[in-house]
Amino acid sequence: MMNQDLSTRARASLPGGVSHELRYRDPYPVFIDRAQGGEKWDVEGRRYIDFKMGSASQMLGHCHPAIVEAIQKQAERSVFSADCHTREIEWAEWVNRLYPSADRTRFTASGTESTMLALRLGRAYSGKDHVLRVEGHFHGWHDHALKGAKPGSDQVPSLGIPDAINDLIHICAADPQAMESALQDDRIGTVIIEASGANYGCVPLATDTLRALHDVVRAAGVVLIFDEIITGFRWSPGGRQARDGIVPDLTTLAKVVTGGLPGGAICGRADIMELLNNATVRNGFGPAVSHKGTFNGSPLIAAAACAAMPLLANGEAQAQADAMAERMRDGMNAAMKRQGVAGIAYGDSSIFHVFFGRDRLDGLGPAEIRGLPKPLVKAYRDGMLSRGVDMMAYTSGLTSSAHTPELIDEALLAFDDTLSEM
Ligand code: PMP
Repeated sequence: MMNQDLSTRARASLPGGVSHELRYRDPYPVFIDRAQGGEKWDVEGRRYIDFKMGSASQMLGHCHPAIVEAIQKQAERSVFSADCHTREIEWAEWVNRLYPSADRTRFTASGTESTMLALRLGRAYSGKDHVLRVEGHFHGWHDHALKGAKPGSDQVPSLGIPDAINDLIHICAADPQAMESALQDDRIGTVIIEASGANYGCVPLATDTLRALHDVVRAAGVVLIFDEIITGFRWSPGGRQARDGIVPDLTTLAKVVTGGLPGGAICGRADIMELLNNATVRNGFGPAVSHKGTFNGSPLIAAAACAAMPLLANGEAQAQADAMAERMRDGMNAAMKRQGVAGIAYGDSSIFHVFFGRDRLDGLGPAEIRGLPKPLVKAYRDGMLSRGVDMMAYTSGLTSSAHTPELIDEALLAFDDTLSEM
């Protein structure tokens, strides 16, 4: 079947023909049939170099043999039984060993659930309902996460979220002084920050700034959550916090922590995390902070995660992915220079972004950096896709440890071509 026909069929049964609004594409998306390493193929047999990589989850490349084998073996023993099992202990021990903030870990079923639980814990521990978040940072799609997720937006990111919830969410700039003054409001008990800066570093957050934000939150005695759902196991085996030595109270994880399967985790300080312990009580009931979820810590996912952990723990996978992203950024900058196009390719770790129109980001705020004209972004993404290169979102992409210099150089040819066409 052709992509276009599948899209027509999909729109009759799925709203917009998709299961995630960012998968929508005009006139129709490509339907992927299989993926391997840093590549994937659609139902028409077209091959793509993949820089979406399962929304940043496939850090070791698609279908890494160790992960596939672990899933197959576990599936034969039990797909799911909703019981305690040894692998979830092993898995939590990996997280606690690698993450400086982690005394305890609790598994969830998605990144969104991780930030939802982390905010609940922050509120329970601090006894305060109000939360401070940074403009443009993304923390999933639940009711407490959407306000402020888009820079410069009208603050009504979705219908269906009660005003009473939005009223609890305060937004400030990624600036220590702005955060300090926002924290003067003593109704705020929790701060959440996307460890990379907004949208996996599309709006970069310098290490000094992150450290200063951390210090300001610490001084205010407020619970600090780092959302490391993208940066976790990617910026280093212990995420950004281990790489840069800046430690929050709680950390949210997903994507790579599961070996690239559905799920998530939160980890953090024992005194906060132990509110989830059944031995604690609230109004005679326990545990103090309630958290359930049928598929949390599922054995199939734990098996994949425990197969991935040794491959992620020594930093080699990250070094390979980082080198490939750097090759991509360097090549893109060289191509723009060669063609006389004003623009900059930038990014940290295994992530690359491109901004068109200026060769420096200095002085630009999140709304400007994220505000390239939609037709320009579409021309860029469509140009890359038609040349067999798929990106993550906006103008950004990610590499994995399976990307090779050959794949990057091929993708750079597509970039060069796309640029001249634009
Ligand atoms: N936080 C960040 C920083 C993310 O990038 C994402 C997903 N892209 C989420 C939270 C939400 O995770 P999930 O899609 O698994 O719900």
